[in-house]
Amino acid sequence: MGVTSELQMRFHKSETALFVIIAVLIALGALMYQTFAMLAPAAEALTQDDRVAQIRDIAKLLLSAGLLLGIALFFSIFFIYPMIRRQTREEGKLRAMTASLSARSQTLEQAALTDGLTGMQNRRYFDDALKEYLEEFRRIDKPVGLMILDLDHFKQVNDTHGHDMGDEVLRAVAECLKALTRYHDVVARLGGEEFAVVAPNLDNDRLVKLAERIRKAIATMPVTSGNVRLKVTASVGLAVWDGTETAEDFFRRADRMLYEAKRRGRNRVCA
Ligand code: GH3
Ligand code: MG
Ligand code: MG
Repeated sequence: MGVTSELQMRFHKSETALFVIIAVLIALGALMYQTFAMLAPAAEALTQDDRVAQIRDIAKLLLSAGLLLGIALFFSIFFIYPMIRRQTREEGKLRAMTASLSARSQTLEQAALTDGLTGMQNRRYFDDALKEYLEEFRRIDKPVGLMILDLDHFKQVNDTHGHDMGDEVLRAVAECLKALTRYHDVVARLGGEEFAVVAPNLDNDRLVKLAERIRKAIATMPVTSGNVRLKVTASVGLAVWDGTETAEDFFRRADRMLYEAKRRGRNRVCA
């Protein structure tokens, strides 16, 4: 509303031009009237002469010119100006509408790539980002680390403490991940209780260290239900890109490591 009324209040260039024309016409009309007022009595006062008739004709011409000027002014003020005004207002409305539409489509685009529960990036964003990172890193000789993380026995959390509590845990894990990763890491919720991190520039040793830090942070995370403290743990699978494999193969390798971590008893990191 604020934007629209502001647009309506401002004068368009064509309106300003019309105002200038109207002002010039008014000034011209005033000048002509002044001349006519001076000429007419002067002509009456003169004696019969050819020149008198000429001056009278000039006065008549001036009067007709003044009438035409009046008509021009009348049309400018009562027809052309309202027309321009309407057009400007419609343009303003259209512009405001376009702006709100593009803002809306940006929000929609954002929503399509964001996980509603945690506010993290979602699977769709993750898949695209992983492919893009590999594409970029194919050209430079730097490692790319991938971490897939799955909460242990999460079904039990839901069954014991309720689905809302489960959601609470997922949000807490998301906060943990956000706090421990770096700005250019891609951190996403892949779905359910499964998360992933793409960590560029991390070799195997440093990736394992980061994963251990995250695993410990989740295990010591303070989440309580009533006066019961929940014990949440996660299993983590790691892989460092070999420089040639596809995003799918790379992901599958990290996923196999996650499966291995579960098999070996959960709450651990496998690389
Ligand atoms: P495991 O250690 O083998 O991973 O066992 P798990 O119980 O974590 O795995 P399972 O796949 O059996 O169960 C995952 C559970 O996650 C089941 C489902 O109810 C729960 N879940 C999935 N998405 C959500 C969610 O958005 N909110 C909540 N509260 N729970 C969810
Ligand atoms: Mg699980
Ligand atoms: Mg799972």
